[in-house]
Amino acid sequence: MTRIPLIAGNWKMHKTVAEAEEFIAGLLPRVSSVDGVDVALCGPFTALQAMVDSTRGSRVEVYAQTMHWTTHGAYTGEVSAPMLTELDVHGVVLGHSERRELFGETDRELQKKVPAALEAGLRPILCVGETEQERENGDTERKLRHQIQEGLEKVPSERLAEVVLAYEPIWAIGTGLVATPQQAQDAVAFCRALVADRSAEQAQGTRILYGGSVKPDNAAELLALPDVDGALVGGASLEPGPFAKIVDAARA
Ligand code: PEP
Repeated sequence: MTRIPLIAGNWKMHKTVAEAEEFIAGLLPRVSSVDGVDVALCGPFTALQAMVDSTRGSRVEVYAQTMHWTTHGAYTGEVSAPMLTELDVHGVVLGHSERRELFGETDRELQKKVPAALEAGLRPILCVGETEQERENGDTERKLRHQIQEGLEKVPSERLAEVVLAYEPIWAIGTGLVATPQQAQDAVAFCRALVADRSAEQAQGTRILYGGSVKPDNAAELLALPDVDGALVGGASLEPGPFAKIVDAARA
């Protein structure tokens, strides 16, 4: 089964509306001729409408960086899936390690958020990954098993391939440290095997991204790995030039 690579830029808490529009004006001409690669920008809530408007008709999709699992209610500060789909947002990042570590997002919450996103018509990118300590202790697979089994538990088997997984070793996020190709391939293949425990067919169609200090000069090697189907890019997604180079590196 062919899996179209996905390059997703995670802007985190960066970019005003004006900055987002300027970025997109710089990016679109650089990626318009790159075929066979899906491109997504994950922006802050305040910029999503402007991002959707300025990418309309292009190959670039717009994702949010989190959402609540219910449609509405007394959840001060939260945003729901229908609020995102109303803006024509395409997807949402769920379980980023910064949401887990800094804002206390749990696997139990993600178990509700992932199917809620799918039901609303949003494509979820579920992030998983181990800390440096967990890797040193030999606990990487245990951590990934727990996060993936729990996060996907309420996703119907026949819809598993609609969820994008992002393997992001926490020690590589924003640090300049990158997993070696062997580490990335082993972990991503393990993630795929976990999906295969539910459905071998769906696992073949599931896109699994690598994230953690992906830059223009290391992207090609990581993206060439057999089980890596794209990248979730933080720092290098903040300027159109480097981000477009990573998109280009994903071309088959
Ligand atoms: C991320 O934010 O998901 C990420 C991988 O960041 P960076 O590329 O900066 O390590």
